[in-house]
Amino acid sequence: MKTLEIPTFECETGNYHTFCPISCVAWLYQKIEDSFFLVVGTKTRGYFLQNALGVMIFAEPRYAMAESEEGDISAQLNDQKELERICLRVKDDRNPSVIIWIGTRTTEIIKMDLEGIAPKLEKQLGIPIVVARANGLDHAFTQGEDTALAATTHRCPEYNHRTTNQQKGDVVKHIVVDVVSDDKSLDEGGKSNRCNLVLFGSLPSSVASQSNLESRRQSVSVSGWLPSQRYTELPALGEGVYVCGVNPFLSRTATTLMRRRKCQLVGAPFPIGPDGTRAWIEKICLVFDVKPDGLEERENQIWKNLSDYLDIITGKSVFSMGDNLLEISLARFLIRCGMVVYEVGIPYMDRRYQAAELLLLQHTCEKMKKPMPRIVEKPDNYSQVQRMHELQPDLAITGMAHANPLEARDIDTKWSVEFTFAQIHGSVNARDALELVTRPLRRKSDSVLGLDCRSLSRQTVDV
Ligand code: SF4
Repeated sequence: MKTLEIPTFECETGNYHTFCPISCVAWLYQKIEDSFFLVVGTKTRGYFLQNALGVMIFAEPRYAMAESEEGDISAQLNDQKELERICLRVKDDRNPSVIIWIGTRTTEIIKMDLEGIAPKLEKQLGIPIVVARANGLDHAFTQGEDTALAATTHRCPEYNHRTTNQQKGDVVKHIVVDVVSDDKSLDEGGKSNRCNLVLFGSLPSSVASQSNLESRRQSVSVSGWLPSQRYTELPALGEGVYVCGVNPFLSRTATTLMRRRKCQLVGAPFPIGPDGTRAWIEKICLVFDVKPDGLEERENQIWKNLSDYLDIITGKSVFSMGDNLLEISLARFLIRCGMVVYEVGIPYMDRRYQAAELLLLQHTCEKMKKPMPRIVEKPDNYSQVQRMHELQPDLAITGMAHANPLEARDIDTKWSVEFTFAQIHGSVNARDALELVTRPLRRKSDSVLGLDCRSLSRQTVDV
């Protein structure tokens, strides 16, 4: 285990399990109420979606597959004609405000020109068509949302800063990503900019309103969300608009917002856990030149309410195999809870976008006197399992492929995918996050008292 103060990054083979990024349709179609998602690809994707999304598929979801056949792949059929036929049906049946095409590995490999066809059909059908290349070749799991949001960014209306902001000098041109820098210089016009805060990242509406409330408590009001509840309510973007991410996997969206829409990024840690939420709000306050009010007391109160969970996990060790990009924020939160994190696997690490989070991780390790976890980008699951055999962590956060085999070898596991779908953002949801983490550990203590079902599947292995 490393005991370095500065995080070091390792990179392995990328031979790991994760969900295909097209799975983002599962939560995005629910978030954007007037959207329809069309996944363009072969049957493999259909099977994956049907299996991964479980019972949701029986609830007439607003997504479908445009299944490519032999004729599409050998170009005997005309891509545009085929897509037109399907989109017309979608329009007649559901009348959505937007159709989002999700490109897959198939469309990449056969070079289907989705971006070229979309504007033509858009004109013909009179419905906006957004193209997101959420394929498994380039991306992992949650990055699917990143590609969809980055594509949607271009459809947001233009923010007219001249009419809202009298002084042109107030508009800050450079980008705030350096968390340690003094941001005072940015904000001569801070007060007048106060309402131009757009948060990006898809959260369930109850969690989004909690975040709105948290920032309103500090007299910073959120002017919009990307994505919004409805496609027709996308927030205005442009010079003078500050944007802040709520999820660590949205680096492409952040880059597009800065480069293409000229927004200013507030580089903050992510609002996961009471510590992350406080740091997140504090950074926003700093940018808007607002003095944070009562944040420390509020955080302490929440930690006090979590004491029953903390008793279970303090001093326990955890190994996170990595598949959804939430790993760094989660590790930082768990270290703050008193756990030792041996390793954090992560599919892709944007050090610039996650700079503030990495810094907070570093501070948290110092504060809690815990070693800095080893951060492994593009992990190799085979090597990770070997390392786990040596380290024998109390808990492994892992995908479904490894969960049962590890359980059978006496390592408790938590399915990582649950952190993506559960509500873990904001201070108020810290209990839910810890409920997930502690469940396997509590199950173990229950089985010590009563029946130990795990012995049924336990095997002896010589390593
Ligand atoms: S795009 Fe790649 S990862 Fe996704 S379902 Fe197809 S083959 Fe699998």
